Amino acid sequence: MRNIPLNQPERGHVTHICSNCGRTARKMRGNYLFRESGLKNIVLVNAEIIKCDKCGNEDPVLAKMDDVMKTIALALVNKPSALCGEEIRYLRKYLGMSGDTFAGYLHTDKSVLSRWENNRELVGSKSDLLIRAIVLSLGRGLLPEAEHVVRQFSKIDESQKSVMVEIDPENLEFEYELANV
Ligand SMILES: [Zn+2]
Repeated sequence: MRNIPLNQPERGHVTHICSNCGRTARKMRGNYLFRESGLKNIVLVNAEIIKCDKCGNEDPVLAKMDDVMKTIALALVNKPSALCGEEIRYLRKYLGMSGDTFAGYLHTDKSVLSRWENNRELVGSKSDLLIRAIVLSLGRGLLPEAEHVVRQFSKIDESQKSVMVEIDPENLEFEYELANV
């Protein structure tokens, strides 16, 4: 929600401060690789960014942070390729579960879950699907999407290369791009 005094023009009078060096920064729009999520493949598309021309630091402005986190979770359980370790960790944290608790739901050992999350062991196809199903059932706000997502499970192709996930942080839409790595 905007909260701008009526007697002030919308643009031009707001000073943005760089969170890194404390100098004046400017607001712009652009794509932002959202590493703060703990994931390497999340791009916030056309996001508002506070950019510092002095030190190069960029900070995204996320008015709907909770909704963005939910959209990322939804995009991960819906993704057309296998889950990687960082994605499993993100989903566990989205559930607010410890490794112990989540491993219990999955009927696996905490150390196995840890190896999945650290990409030291590949998660099997069945466990991948079970993780998605649990997150859809228990993850905040995801249950209404469960039927649609589960009906796509047969299309998941574990042999497919990793994908970039592009998130629109305002409209909360997402799409996938094959990663060119
Ligand atoms: Zn700076």
